[in-house]
Amino acid sequence: MGARRMLLLGPPGAGKGTQALRLVAKFGIPQISTGDMLRGAVAAGTEIGRRAQGYMDRGELVPDSVVIGVAEERLSQGDAESGFVLDGFPRTAAQAEALDALLERMGTKLERCVALVADEDSLVTRLLGRAQIEGRSDDSEDTIRTRMSVYHEQTAPLIDYYRKQEILAEVDGLGSVEEVAKRIEEALS
Ligand code: AMP
Repeated sequence: MGARRMLLLGPPGAGKGTQALRLVAKFGIPQISTGDMLRGAVAAGTEIGRRAQGYMDRGELVPDSVVIGVAEERLSQGDAESGFVLDGFPRTAAQAEALDALLERMGTKLERCVALVADEDSLVTRLLGRAQIEGRSDDSEDTIRTRMSVYHEQTAPLIDYYRKQEILAEVDGLGSVEEVAKRIEEALS
């Protein structure tokens, strides 16, 4: 059997969420999206939501201490025991190290990091289209540019982190949902 503890890494708009849902359906494992969880916390008006909202609206990263807590709590739930698709977490070196430490405490480890590769101009166009459809408050052009530079500065270095662990698979993220899904499936087998 292929990998069941996986992480989708990639710039904003690369299709992580869409592909994560395909993997959920295929493997019967949960998607763990810190972005979705944080948006839920904002909508519910919780303390975590209040702490996260300003960063999210500006397209900046929510502080590690907040996000790591959210992710750890979710990963500790029973449905993540036999596998999970991480989507949008980790995004910094500190988060990646915290994840490794948590999984080690749980007696397991990450099996594959699938990095979706796509050029920035296509992604900005895609995100601006999504902004019109979904009305996400962090999808204005300025915020999208901020999210791109945050990705390059803080998250892209994780590609090397997982390459060194020898669990990295780089996948071309441009093309139809079906085409990309097929490439990911090959990378996981
Ligand atoms: P996403 O839906 O994954 O694009 O996340 C939306 C926003 O939530 C990001 O722009 C960040 O402000 C915040 N966020 C989500 N995941 C993380 C994370 N792992 N670390 C820091 N901030 C995050």
